[in-house]
Amino acid sequence: MIEKRIENIRKALADNSAGLITNESDCFYFSGFNRSEGMVLVTPDTATLFVDFRYIEAAKKASKIDVRLTDNFFRDIYSLLKNESITTVFVQSESVTLSKKKLLDEAFDGIHVSTDINLDKIIREMRAVKSAEEIALIKSAQDITDRAFSYILTKINAGKTEREIALELELFMKKEGSEGVAFDTICVSGENSSKPHGIPGNKIIEDGDFLTLDFGAIVGGYRSDMTRTVCVGKPTDKMTYVYNTVLKAQTEAIASVKSGVACKCVDKVARDIIETAGFKGCFGHGLGHSVGIDIHESPYFNTRCEALTKPGMVITVEPGIYLQNEFGVRIEDMIVVTENGCEDITKSNKSLVII
Ligand code: ZN
Ligand code: ZN
Repeated sequence: MIEKRIENIRKALADNSAGLITNESDCFYFSGFNRSEGMVLVTPDTATLFVDFRYIEAAKKASKIDVRLTDNFFRDIYSLLKNESITTVFVQSESVTLSKKKLLDEAFDGIHVSTDINLDKIIREMRAVKSAEEIALIKSAQDITDRAFSYILTKINAGKTEREIALELELFMKKEGSEGVAFDTICVSGENSSKPHGIPGNKIIEDGDFLTLDFGAIVGGYRSDMTRTVCVGKPTDKMTYVYNTVLKAQTEAIASVKSGVACKCVDKVARDIIETAGFKGCFGHGLGHSVGIDIHESPYFNTRCEALTKPGMVITVEPGIYLQNEFGVRIEDMIVVTENGCEDITKSNKSLVII
């Protein structure tokens, strides 16, 4: 599989040129070795992961391409480029800073360091369509997430703090095999739940609060992402109305997904429902994002994204309604695009849970 990815990069390169991959997640994608300060160099004849002493043992075990130990990345990459008579090396403009570009220009004497090929875009488009193996890992991460939600429902009660609940969730996921948290856990209640990306604090969960939990696990380097909003105590009519509106927006948006749909059209399905229900201006973020090695990947379900969905894309659907100084509701599932529809890989219940 990694061989195929390397081949795709080679196709994009000109004769006598190489691609230097420096983005951490992309290095994992092209080597199989996760999380290091390494670099991957793809030339017409070779593909090499360069790592320093701290990672060499683990890299040799995990990497599917050649591994080289280095104590001076640019010097050793330069000598490989020279050996293979490379005249141009394409770099990733989104991860190579201006100061690093200057260092590269100096270190690669006689070799053109170029951003003319948009390596980032090429890689982004490759990574957008997940293989069966990648989807299996994301599903495993989501399975832990679903189980964590069932578990936490037995632990939530008025009187606990948001931070306590967040910690219990994270502890459960790690015990169940998660390699970390997919992103900083969001656990916000009452008025705090109107902040889409609120930080769990010492606020005590009170009777009558909505509690929004947004969290995910990591398996094999791949992430999951799910949000559920539950009610602690009895919801008001307004709370129930808002919840059911978000749920309708979410389920109808999911029902509209199939291969070949413009991402912005999926966003519109949910946004129209929320606006028609009287909440214009209360859904101030995009409907969803792709998930994989990174928590936010392309393409996005938002008002601008013209990309067409393709089978194998894994994208979240997460509408929300946020009423400042009152409360907020968000419901988020991950779906896998298929030829004629999509598979919802989030299994947790979505009808309003009252604790
Ligand atoms: Zn989320
Ligand atoms: Zn998300």
